Amino acid sequence: MPVTRYPVLIVGAGAVGLAASTLLAHHGVQSLTIEKRRAVFVYPKARNLTFRSLEILRGVGLGPAVNAAAHHISHMISKKTLSSAETTVVFDTDFFPDAEGISPEPFGKYCPQSVLEPILLDETRKWGSEVRYATTLVSFSQHDDGVTATIEDLDTGTRSDVHADYLLAADGTHSPVRSQLGIATSGAGRLPIFVVFIYFRGPWKHYVPTLGDGDAVQVDNPGVTGIMIPVDNDLAVFMTTYFPSEGETLEMFTAERCRALLLEAFGTNVAIDVVDVAPWQPYEQVADQFRCGRVFLVGDSAHTMPPFKGGGANTGIGSAQNLAWKLAAVLHGTAGAELLDTYHTERHPVAQFAARQSLTGPGAAYLPLGEGAPTLASDEDLPLFYMIAGYKYRSAAVITDEPASDAVHLVDSEELHGEPGTRMPHAWVQRDGERISTLDLLDTGFTLFTGPAGTPWFGAAESVSRSSGVSITVRPIGVGTDISDVDDQWVKLTGLSPESAMLVRPDAFVAWRADTMPESPQRELDSVIRRILARG
Ligand SMILES: Cc1cc2nc3c(=O)[nH]c(=O)nc-3n(C[C@H](O)[C@H](O)[C@H](O)COP(=O)(O)OP(=O)(O)OC[C@H]3O[C@@H](n4cnc5c(N)ncnc54)[C@H](O)[C@@H]3O)c2cc1C
Repeated sequence: MPVTRYPVLIVGAGAVGLAASTLLAHHGVQSLTIEKRRAVFVYPKARNLTFRSLEILRGVGLGPAVNAAAHHISHMISKKTLSSAETTVVFDTDFFPDAEGISPEPFGKYCPQSVLEPILLDETRKWGSEVRYATTLVSFSQHDDGVTATIEDLDTGTRSDVHADYLLAADGTHSPVRSQLGIATSGAGRLPIFVVFIYFRGPWKHYVPTLGDGDAVQVDNPGVTGIMIPVDNDLAVFMTTYFPSEGETLEMFTAERCRALLLEAFGTNVAIDVVDVAPWQPYEQVADQFRCGRVFLVGDSAHTMPPFKGGGANTGIGSAQNLAWKLAAVLHGTAGAELLDTYHTERHPVAQFAARQSLTGPGAAYLPLGEGAPTLASDEDLPLFYMIAGYKYRSAAVITDEPASDAVHLVDSEELHGEPGTRMPHAWVQRDGERISTLDLLDTGFTLFTGPAGTPWFGAAESVSRSSGVSITVRPIGVGTDISDVDDQWVKLTGLSPESAMLVRPDAFVAWRADTMPESPQRELDSVIRRILARG
């Protein structure tokens, strides 16, 4: 049996598996991703990307590709039937707050999984990482020096062994890897909400010609209630729910009945072709451990949430980014393996919070969900910002006086001012006459922001980089530097004095800051880097 070795084996090429592969590739780590599906996902499951996911994609140079493909955030209108004249706007972009001042990206954008996956696939292959479709994980075992997995080519039935330093289980809600490891999950679990996706081809455009990609129509009449979402040309999906408590079963959704329901939705006799009928139940489920030895859970295998706030893929992309730079640092020998423990410490509370917040949201309000579906008390239901970037990490990879804990620490958007553990602040600055975001100043290593009097930090960073192999780029902002602080926005946001410094990790989270110039900046920075990277 042929044996091949990779630094990382990723099981599952969903949005999160492919994001992890791409992010690792940007950190110089090649991976093999295996996917039992035969091709990228063709239906728009995850639909909207938040500003934080857009920032992460922008950070790896995919901003232009995503923005060329992505559209405005989803609008939804309501109609009695698709052919009825009256239309009500259910929600539009006003539903989402303005991200100006928080992010260089809009608050959210419609970029469905079916569009995102090919972008990520091309990118990771461009960097030399491999993605094999029609390939499944058969079994795996862990050893002191790695993971051995048996994989099978589903076309030929050929099995082979792959040896990897680390395995990423991006294998979805029902994660076979998580089950094999015996990792328990917490949360409400499978929710008593019974959804059916009816994919069809039909002349929907004739009745709702102004509907753009990503928009949706809620249909509500005595014959049927559901949401119609365009997929591609005449292909669309109609989402509806059924109620086992009222004697309804999935088996009742025969092609014939689905056709009849669609005719009720159209409200007129049209030619319809039912293409596919897929049942689905949402979960609120978070794995109790995101790491077991050399195996890491990412995406839905670590944290599954109902889609009512569009949080699943977005939270997964955030987790993939958190893990990618840490794995790269350990694989490149610049960090101790304990750094990898901070993946769980940092992402578990965030994921638990996001999953619970997702029990309700705009998506839930427009489908009849029946009794018994868990919901969130209105005083617990917080603005979307908190799920996206309104939290701070407390772990060994962040230097603060506050101890690590498994509770989520929420921060308001005004609190993104450079406190260790928070996403670094965004401000528009000027470089060579061009307006850029401070987030655009990051690269794949650490970045040390300082002010016009921060010259000693250059020598310190150079010395620490040389001795540790850790890349630290110094970025002075302000008068007399290459980067001008337009209207003092940056200084006002961060409170950084001309000689102070703020160290930002490769994932754009602040690791540490020094509000005055220490006696020995080199010694201070060396000690900080050692602590953050668990270098002993
Ligand atoms: C209707 C709906 C709307 C949604 N809207 C949004 C939204 O707007 N925004 C958002 O962020 N999220 C949204 N989500 C959630 C989002 O779709 C998921 O969170 C996201 O797809 C999870 O990605 P993943 O890569 O972790 O898992 P998945 O996409 O489930 O991918 C897991 C992959 O692993 C593969 N796999 C499993 N086992 C094996 C094996 N043994 N060998 C090889 N391959 C294997 C599977 O085939 C699968 O392709 C929505 C979900 C639904 C259902």
